[in-house]
Formats: sequence, structure tokens, C-alpha cells
Amino acid sequence: MKRIAIGQISHETNAFSPIPTDISRFEQRGLGRGDELMEMFEGTRTPLGGFLDACGEFGWKPVATLAAAAVPSGLVTGDAFDQLLGELVEGIRNSGSVDGVLLALHGAMVAENAPDAEGEIIAAVRGAVGAEVPVVCTLDYHANMTDLMVSESTGLFGYNTYPHVDGYERGLEAASFMKDVLGAGTNPVTRLLRPPIAPAVVPARTGWGPMKDLMERAFEWEEREGVVNVSAYGGFVYSDIDEAGLAFLATTDGDAELATRIVEDLAGRAWEIREDFVADMMEPETAVKAALESGSAPVVLADVADNTGGGASGDGTAILHALAEIGWPDAAVVTIPDPEATRLAFQAGVGGVFEGSVGGKIDDAHGSPIEVSGRVRLLSDGEFVHRGPMSTGLKSGMGKTAVIRVGETDIIVNENRFQPVDPAAPRSVGVDPAHKKIVVLKSAVHYRASYEPMAGKIIEVDGPGLSSPNLDRFQFANLRRPVFPVDDM
Ligand SMILES: [Zn+2]
Repeated sequence: MKRIAIGQISHETNAFSPIPTDISRFEQRGLGRGDELMEMFEGTRTPLGGFLDACGEFGWKPVATLAAAAVPSGLVTGDAFDQLLGELVEGIRNSGSVDGVLLALHGAMVAENAPDAEGEIIAAVRGAVGAEVPVVCTLDYHANMTDLMVSESTGLFGYNTYPHVDGYERGLEAASFMKDVLGAGTNPVTRLLRPPIAPAVVPARTGWGPMKDLMERAFEWEEREGVVNVSAYGGFVYSDIDEAGLAFLATTDGDAELATRIVEDLAGRAWEIREDFVADMMEPETAVKAALESGSAPVVLADVADNTGGGASGDGTAILHALAEIGWPDAAVVTIPDPEATRLAFQAGVGGVFEGSVGGKIDDAHGSPIEVSGRVRLLSDGEFVHRGPMSTGLKSGMGKTAVIRVGETDIIVNENRFQPVDPAAPRSVGVDPAHKKIVVLKSAVHYRASYEPMAGKIIEVDGPGLSSPNLDRFQFANLRRPVFPVDDM
């Protein structure tokens, strides 16, 4: 029976965030080791869930090492990076000889001591298992692809979707590729090309516009005889590393010339349509008014610049101020991470009066705190299960959570920063977004997977924040230049 080591180290790093990503940020989400890892991910629609199912199907023994992930935030501290990587590599070494390694990585992780964190992770694992053992990884669609990641791995499989609804399928695909390498003697040859384009994440969703075009072109190439995998990556410009941005990766069975032709075709096409990578946004006050005047409901106001999932604080108050301006209409705010306000709400108790400031406390890039007077409707431990289509089955926690009713607005305050991609989160605290006129979400794109079917209308709001699609607001220090659209090209 073949023994396949399985692990995960995942973080999307926003270099502009002042929140240091230390080990406690990974512990908050839960570190999975050995059997714990199996329990956390068995049956989930995640890359690790895909690895585990594939092991069952192919008759492999999974050797669980470490699963670590944290909500996007600032640079990963050197200590945290060394500890996690050390544990992963030790886990693989101590498990005796393995026939292959399957890793679920992100690709846009930046550590204080490793700008190309995934490159370093893959190289360290390669060092531990030697040149002959296949090391195959899944990557997030927002991976910033580097030469080291390509040269040290046997195969890389990026999500094809944003919102990311195909993590499980990519896990299966990576494992099935591993099977071909181990059995059928596939001889993978990979080529990487990065055109000088580093788009914001909002206009790079895959169901629309330029990335839809590029993904379809990538899938056409994938049909070609001898092609193993073609991936188009949106990259994550906010990581602010040299390689951040769009990338195309083609893997063929032994045909280097074909792999080169594919990535050149895709990069050329991306350059032709680069002007399409723009977001159409509305000022907060205009957006709230447009939502109220709209004949449909619910109207989702996506606070795209304060996307917790992109490393912004999530406690931005621009839209709250706009709601206050017009007397707190029928709305749900999902959510404002604010441990202090949450504590006050717990002190007041259900039915009690909440008087205090909400939001704007984590940093000074997301608006000022807003004074709120309301009533506490509900208190919760914040546990919920993702209903999908993203991360279906995965348990998640908002930390202690309170619903504060102000006028006709329900503001959900909670302890932990997290991206509210799933209506299961507000529903778990008695707030059904489907029955609200306005739903404010701290999410750039992922919310679309579950909210688009129920939303009467979606408005992307141009508020302040560290995930703003307006890249003129950022001082890039390490990004290669010139690069579109940061520079006129
Ligand atoms: Zn992503």
C-alpha cells in the first residue's frame, strides 16, 4: 500500500495590513495534526477533503501531518513560519518513507523571513523527501506564482474558480495526477509565464469579464492531447512581492515546446484585454440610497475594500456611517469584528441596551468608530457550519457573537475576523439575509457563490480599506515595475 503524506499551510498575506500573523492566528482557526486533521477535513468540500477521498479510492494510506490556516492578515511572523514549516517537515520525516506528498497551499503567503513562502515550503519538503518522490500541491486562485514553486514541485493545481468552489475537485485532480506520475510514468514538464499585469481581486472574478475569457481559453488548451493541466492565476497584488499578479502555468507530458506555446498564448491574450480589469464601484452614501430606491431585495452592498478575506480589518465603518445618516433602515451588517463591542453586548445581555462604539478600531485605514445605541437581540458562541457551495461542511467560528438592533438595522458584532461568504453565518444568529432590504457583506467576491442566487441586486461599494480595487491608494514597495494597472502601460 502506497503511503502519501498530506498537509496544509495556508495564508493569504496582505502586506499592507498592520495585523501581524503570529501562531495564535493559526491556532484561532484550529491546527490539525494527525488524526485531528482527518476529523477536521474528512467529508468536506476542500482540497484536503479531496486528498482524503482520493486516498480511499486509490487504496493509499494517508499520512496526516499538519493542517494550518489563518484568516488573511499581515505578514506571517518569522517564528510562526519556522514553527509551521518545521512541524510539517518533521511530520513528513517522522512518518517513515512516503511514496508521495500532497500539500494544500495558498500561494500568496508572505513571511517576514520568506517573501516567497510557498516556494520555501515546497523546497523544504522536497529536501526532506528527495528528488524522486512526487510533491504535488493545490494552490489558491490568488497564488502569486514563483519560479521556485514550479522548480521544486512535481505538479501544481490552482483553483479554476473565484469564488473558489472547486477546492475539492482540485484536490482530487492533484491526487489523480500523483497516481499517473507514480503508475503510468507521466513525465510532467511545466512552464510559467507572468505578464506584467497585477489586477485587483474584484475585477478578476472568474464568472465575468477578462478572467472568464482567459479561463475558457485555458480549458480549451487543456483538451489538447498531451496536456496535463493549464491554470490561470489571478494573483494577489496586495502581497506586494516581486512576482505578485497574473500568471499562467501549463503542464504537459514531456512536451516543453507545447507548454511554452500555451502560456505565451494566454499571456498575450491577457495583455490584449488588460483594460477590462477594472471594477465599477459606488460611494457608500450613493450605494445605500441606490439600495433603498431599488425595487428588488435584498440588495447586497459588498464592502469590497474591507474584505476580511483579503486581509482588510473587516471592522470598517464607511457603510455604517452611511446607514446612520439615513436613520438605520432595514439592513443586516455581516459582520463587524469588534471584541470590545461584543463584550459590552454580552454585559448588557439579551434584551439589554447597548451603548457604545462599534468598528474602526483595528487600524486607521477603515474609517472611524461609530457611536451606536441599540438593543441586544441575541448572543451566541458563533459556531456554524458552511452550507456551501464554498467549503461545504467545514465548521467555522465567529467567536462570541452578538446581534445589536439599531433602528431597523441588525449589526452583527463578533470576536474573530472572518469572511462572511456563507449565509449560514448570519442565519446561525437569527438574521436571515433573504428577508432584509440591505445586506452589508465584508467580502470582495466569495459571497457571490451563495448570495448571488438570492440577491435582487449587488452593488460594489468604494469605501476605504486595504483590499480596495483602487490600486492608486497603495504604496507598493516590492512589486515589480512597471506593471498594469498600477502603472500606465
Ligand atoms: Zn483566493
